[in-house]
Amino acid sequence: MNFDEIAPGVHVLRYPVLDVNVTLIVGAEAAMVVDTLATPSQALELVAAIRTVTDRPLTVVNTHAHFDHCFGNAVVVEASPGATVRAHPSTVEAFAGDGVQLRRAAYEEARTLAPEIADQVATTVLWAPDTAVAEQETVELGDRTVVLHYFGRGHTAGDLVVHVPDAATVVAGDLVEEGAPPSFSDSYPLEWPDTLTGVLALQPSVVVPGHGAVVNRDFVGQQRADLSRLEWLIRDGDRVGAPAETVAAEAPFPREAALTAVRRGYAALAGTL
Ligand SMILES: [Zn+2]
Repeated sequence: MNFDEIAPGVHVLRYPVLDVNVTLIVGAEAAMVVDTLATPSQALELVAAIRTVTDRPLTVVNTHAHFDHCFGNAVVVEASPGATVRAHPSTVEAFAGDGVQLRRAAYEEARTLAPEIADQVATTVLWAPDTAVAEQETVELGDRTVVLHYFGRGHTAGDLVVHVPDAATVVAGDLVEEGAPPSFSDSYPLEWPDTLTGVLALQPSVVVPGHGAVVNRDFVGQQRADLSRLEWLIRDGDRVGAPAETVAAEAPFPREAALTAVRRGYAALAGTL
């Protein structure tokens, strides 16, 4: 399991379980790790892979609060004592109260998606992000800067986007998915297209999705168009009182994903999300 350099000093590790991406951005004085995988043992493999690329001190970003992106935090921080973990305030909030609820939700999700790691997920010692980024923050890595952005709700309430301007690269978390439909279980489908407009405005050449192969701006544009079509199907369906199943059948996504999205969209319009 190794990192591939996808742009100068920007490395991506595509982890086979759940096909998750971790991004490593290496500067002269520090390196940023974006997401930390799903379990302590996965994170140990991750740290070993990081150390084949760089021995610089680490700073961590969690793109959002789903377990496959942040349950490795404790192990990564242990490998670089004093490392800061940045995330959107809603992600920080998700870790509140010892993260009991977060771990429970993660266990249920893992049982369905990757049962072989469900028990490990359930017993992971969580490490909460310590630095909330509500809108934007610039992080210095020595000879280069990285900018964290929050463009609004989409895949979750708190998707942070990482921009590496000198490499025209954006790490989009699960706002962009390759190889599988976007995941709608905690989504805001009526707001997701506008959030992706923010991502596209950065004019990236390279975009690292939360899962799957690295993509380009055109891919993100197509995903935005599909999500926009979905948004208007939901709004039209709501206006005429169409059953969620009928609307989902029209959507440019697989039926089950679309049905989850339509139900979330209807709930948003009803004010019950
Ligand atoms: Zn996710």
